[in-house]
Amino acid sequence: MSDENIYPETNTIISMDDTYVMHSYGRKKVVFVKGSGMKLWDADGKEYLDFLAGIAVNGIGHSHPELAEAICRQSSKLMHVSNLFYVPQQPMLAKKLVELSGLDKAFFCNSGAEANEAALKLARKWGNTKRSGRYEIITAKHSFHGRTLAAVTATGQPKYHSGFEPMMPGFKYVPYNDFDALKKSISDATCAVMLEPVQGESGVWPASKEYMVNVRKLCDDLGILLILDEVQTGIGRTGKWFGFQHYDIKPDIMTLAKTLGGGFPIGSCLATNSVAEVFEPGSHASTFGGNPLACTAALTTIDIIEKNDLINNSMNMGAYMKESLIKLQKSRNDIKDVRGLGLMIALEFNRDDIQDVVVKCMNQGLIVNGIGTNIIRFVPPLIVNQNDIDNAINILANVL
Ligand code: PLP
Repeated sequence: MSDENIYPETNTIISMDDTYVMHSYGRKKVVFVKGSGMKLWDADGKEYLDFLAGIAVNGIGHSHPELAEAICRQSSKLMHVSNLFYVPQQPMLAKKLVELSGLDKAFFCNSGAEANEAALKLARKWGNTKRSGRYEIITAKHSFHGRTLAAVTATGQPKYHSGFEPMMPGFKYVPYNDFDALKKSISDATCAVMLEPVQGESGVWPASKEYMVNVRKLCDDLGILLILDEVQTGIGRTGKWFGFQHYDIKPDIMTLAKTLGGGFPIGSCLATNSVAEVFEPGSHASTFGGNPLACTAALTTIDIIEKNDLINNSMNMGAYMKESLIKLQKSRNDIKDVRGLGLMIALEFNRDDIQDVVVKCMNQGLIVNGIGTNIIRFVPPLIVNQNDIDNAINILANVL
């Protein structure tokens, strides 16, 4: 047994996982048992620099002492009560998110896919009640919105639909950043357009300013909703609280999860009053959604982000990292593109062995994410500093 005799040995964990856990993940052969700030440790005591952050989740770093303390304190007081009763932390968190975003009301759930389910149901209910039965939702090709049936249907990637057909009716897909294609696809049945401000999962593709501004205007002109999936871009990831703030627009509905709880599961769907009002008691619900523990984690995470000016850090360190990666690009001939917004950055390569590069980085103590065969995504904690970035790029350069 390793790690104070709590866990079996690494090989035993891997073989138990193989036996008892459904094989829905292709896992790398490493077992993390401890984290602190930018660092992770595996069961054998090896240290890693984390530029993945649980896929854009651990914004304030791993096991932030203030967050751990707040979770401990709240869990010994009250973890869960039913949403049949008032939960004091829920309106407190909703007020904070409303003040930060300029939207009006929040619904709470436990994950990004659930936040998107809430958004899709809200848009359909709005279409049904306020736009004489409109139901169709237009999303982008190469988007990612989660794995529940409606969220995966909204996801414009056939590989995630395969085997689960028939998909939910009422979705259409258009090329991202192509305003004319979007305009042409809208029909009398359309109630909403749903986009990520930066497509994350498919390789970090930011929307252009012109596109976002035009889409917002089109939705206004046609009286349909703009839903922004900010599950990955929200809560400081792009150098602003929300991705939409780069575009001087505001969505009608926005979804959040990932960084919101600093590692504790929580998701949220926010909307303007005129949209939110179509949800009545009984319209939508979640047993665990917005419980005292999850809301305390989110309130504490937001407080830590504010106190430590992590939004500006995300912007500044994102710019520093991009500059450093452009220098790396100039010194080599296998990097095709450096792109991103804030601390959501990708390197696209002219080589197709990126999954091997990712494993070699891991062996050298750096965690990054490989997308397909030729893209590396970096989504480090928002607490990252120049030294961490220099170290990460050094390891990557050595591996390359
Ligand atoms: N939406 C976006 C933009 C995401 O990046 C993700 C996850 O990567 C999701 C939704 C799904 O979130 P979850 O895995 O918490 O359901």
